[in-house]
Amino acid sequence: MKKINLLSDTVTKPTAGMLKFMMAAEVGDDVFQADPTVLELQQKAADLFGMEAALFFPSGTMANQVAIKIHTQPGDQVICDHWAHIYNYEGGGVAANSGVTSKLIVGDRGMFTADQVLENLSNSTDIHQPTTSLVAVENTANKGGGACWSMDELKRIQQVCKKESIYFHLDGARLFNALVAKNETPSQYGALFDTISICLSKGLGCPVGSLLLGTHEAISKALRIRKRMGGGMRQVGYLAAAGIYALDHHVARLAEDHIHATLLAQSLKEQSWVKKVEKVETNIVIFYVQDTLDPAFCVEKLAEKGVLLVGMGQGKLRMVTHLDISRHDIECVIDIIKKMEF
Ligand SMILES: *Cc1c(COP(=O)(O)O)cnc(C)c1O
Repeated sequence: MKKINLLSDTVTKPTAGMLKFMMAAEVGDDVFQADPTVLELQQKAADLFGMEAALFFPSGTMANQVAIKIHTQPGDQVICDHWAHIYNYEGGGVAANSGVTSKLIVGDRGMFTADQVLENLSNSTDIHQPTTSLVAVENTANKGGGACWSMDELKRIQQVCKKESIYFHLDGARLFNALVAKNETPSQYGALFDTISICLSKGLGCPVGSLLLGTHEAISKALRIRKRMGGGMRQVGYLAAAGIYALDHHVARLAEDHIHATLLAQSLKEQSWVKKVEKVETNIVIFYVQDTLDPAFCVEKLAEKGVLLVGMGQGKLRMVTHLDISRHDIECVIDIIKKMEF
């Protein structure tokens, strides 16, 4: 039986075209900044976003953690949503790596407002309070079901950050999904943030890799911290080549993943065993089963039929569409969903 893997958009394998491009890469020792393919990818990404510089990372987690580290001092506070990846899914790194506390905002599907930032800022003149030095947002919001931020709200938050001299970081692990869904451009984001992390290993289909974008100053600090954390890599141009290929070939096609997710959501809504389906904006479908059902049992039963999905706690189940899922796969999943009996 064929398994249809909707666990995450990280499960993709390189396409034949990507592999061929990777194998042809010219490489060097990137710790000496002598890998031409890494340098090319970094320049390409920086140009795309209209930012000064970029740095290649082994993971999105490391890119985010290094960004937090360069914007904060131990004892400072970072403002983020209570569903943020940096808070929930990076092993407590905010505290362990940077000695920083998190001020959590209860937003709407992982997104908050400029007014909420203002309410949660510490008072910098009061010596009792931690210094708020960073606001971090996530687009698309993963736990929010791939939700996309409003550009206007981001601009309002940037104004608050500017006025208060606070850094503004974007965890853009799935930013390209938001760009495609909302017809926005990378440079609109480049103009708003001090640093942006993007994942090449999610919807874009690379085997490994993330980038951090920022000013020359921010990226030269990040280079030092990345090395300290053990993220300096040698002939890594083979992986950077995958990133170049992905930026050229795998961005526009994300629209297909979004259509596939919408089709799944429509079908789920029609089933009596499904209680609620969150609004779908990109490639993530979050849904809840009826209270009488154990979500883990549903995951197991669907897995027996070859459909792999993940439980996210609080009764949430998640399906993610991606490069390795075809329209035919989606039709098969819909057929299986319809025939499920709970
Ligand atoms: C996947 C993800 C990351 C980074 O994850 P890695 O697995 O470390 O590459 C960061 N933020 C969000 C929102 C993500 O979904």
